[in-house]
Amino acid sequence: MITLALSKGRIFDDSMPLLRAAGIEVLEDPEKSRKLIIGTSRADVRVLLVRASDVPTYVEYGGADLGVAGRDVLIEHGGAGLYQPLDLRIARCHMAVAVPEGFDYPAAVRQGSRITVATKYTSIARQFFADKGVHVDLIKLYGSMELAPLTGMAHAIVDLVSTGKTLSANKLVEVEHIMDISSRLIVNQAALKLKTAPIRRIIDAFAGAIDASEKA
Ligand code: ATP
Ligand code: MG
Repeated sequence: MITLALSKGRIFDDSMPLLRAAGIEVLEDPEKSRKLIIGTSRADVRVLLVRASDVPTYVEYGGADLGVAGRDVLIEHGGAGLYQPLDLRIARCHMAVAVPEGFDYPAAVRQGSRITVATKYTSIARQFFADKGVHVDLIKLYGSMELAPLTGMAHAIVDLVSTGKTLSANKLVEVEHIMDISSRLIVNQAALKLKTAPIRRIIDAFAGAIDASEKA
């Protein structure tokens, strides 16, 4: 049995064409079913539905052989014990620093000053401000980061941005592009040794589908 961990939403949706290229059709719509383990057209392949940030954990501990996780989630997890053979180029966005319109960000990050930043991505934010030589006080949040500067709790946020609509709807502006984000295929290292051939076939099919869509 090959077990693949996916999160519902964009990663699940964007993974379907890749699975199809590997000859795998998922048999249920996760938005309609309450099942957490769903079967596929291949008796030897099943899909686990887990939280986006739990995907690396399932793969690390062997609860799943394979998974699809954002670069953001992988950096925060640390990636220990995970083989990362492919950038799938799906669920693309970027990590950014945003502040309220009119906030003097250059002054806030001048050498020797301090800034309070709210984020779900504390490792990425800590590293980014450390590299700039800025003292940062981090406030960990799990969602709706935009509220933190609006309520005076923080000067800035570090969050994922794709269209920028959520930022502008909340009168925030992007002031730094930290890194581009896309999702990667991750593989449990022991599973790769024990089930080399079927896992390799999936990796190769995914790679072929990515190449084909790049050329299209
Ligand atoms: P949870 O809902 O479990 O708290 P989450 O909100 O991070 O987690 P999703 O919104 O499904 O989960 O995002 C999953 C992944 O998709 C993220 O880790 C990131 O890599 C990517 N992603 C997040 N937001 C966007 C976006 N606006 N556009 C494209 N990709 C995104
Ligand atoms: Mg979400």
